Amino acid sequence: KASREPYVQFRTQHREELQRRQRIEEELRRALDTDPSQLEIHYQPIVSADSGTLVALEALLRWTHPDLGSVPPTEFIPLAEQSTLIDKVGAHVLATACAEVAANPQLRQVMLCVNASRRELTNGEFLRRLSETCEQTGMDPHSLCLEITESALAPLDGGLLALLRHIRALGIQISLDDFGTGASSLSELYRLPVGILKTAKAFVDALEEHPSARTILSGIVDVAHAMGVRVTAEGVETASQAATIAAVGCDLAQGYHFGRPKPLVEILTEDPVIPST
Ligand code: C2E
Ligand code: CA
Ligand code: CA
Repeated sequence: KASREPYVQFRTQHREELQRRQRIEEELRRALDTDPSQLEIHYQPIVSADSGTLVALEALLRWTHPDLGSVPPTEFIPLAEQSTLIDKVGAHVLATACAEVAANPQLRQVMLCVNASRRELTNGEFLRRLSETCEQTGMDPHSLCLEITESALAPLDGGLLALLRHIRALGIQISLDDFGTGASSLSELYRLPVGILKTAKAFVDALEEHPSARTILSGIVDVAHAMGVRVTAEGVETASQAATIAAVGCDLAQGYHFGRPKPLVEILTEDPVIPST
């Protein structure tokens, strides 16, 4: 009998996991449909690597459920991405973040970065959603940036490439997120209409221990700059990392060292370096 226990344990764990996933999906759908106050957008500063001036804000979704408590996006986003639920999530974040940021004239010079998943890009309505949201919220498309992970673009077919070009034609920037972890990497960059490359956190993490990480980062910066593409280093947690990424020529920086994601009101009242012109 004892020999069966690990299996039974496994089955129970597996069942509980499936139940939690199902619950999260249901509750997230319910929150979006009937109680969006459970959802809040936090904004993380993206600053100029050499001066520390605020350049952009990345919108990151936060969800606090009355019973489940705070559910991290690393849990609910991948779940939502398995169905059309991600469309609802993405539309909510885009509309809310655009409205919140556009309502603050002091953020006129600050770019808003919103994450987009592959499923949203390919749903056939994405382009219309973008232009309608900008129109309805008063968001200037030139101040909007979409963060798309390198892996979300693979495989890169003609339709997806055309969509990216249409997004650019609206004036919206594209930032290639988590760059360096996916399959395309530098060899495909010339095909993509991206203005910003955001290197995976792993590069910054490795800086202290592996001198070669600095060399690789520096190489990415050189290639990106040769193509007129700016580079953001994300996950900068220490002053020494901040100094290194600035020294190798990264244009922008993001990470706990510069500021954690927080509600917009806190950004507006706490951060002293909002450009005024
Ligand atoms: P991401 O787009 O790569 O966002 C960066 C994540 O790193 C965020 O986690 C942020 O809070 C965290 N981070 C920022 N600076 C540091 C740092 O210095 N150290 C460490 N350890 N972490 C840092 P978060 O907010 O938990 O989001 C996780 C992921 O969930 C995001 O990764 C993104 O892929 C996804 N996500 C969040 N909101 C949305 C959304 O509205 N739409 C979509 N499609 N995905 C979203
Ligand atoms: Ca991102
Ligand atoms: Ca990222």
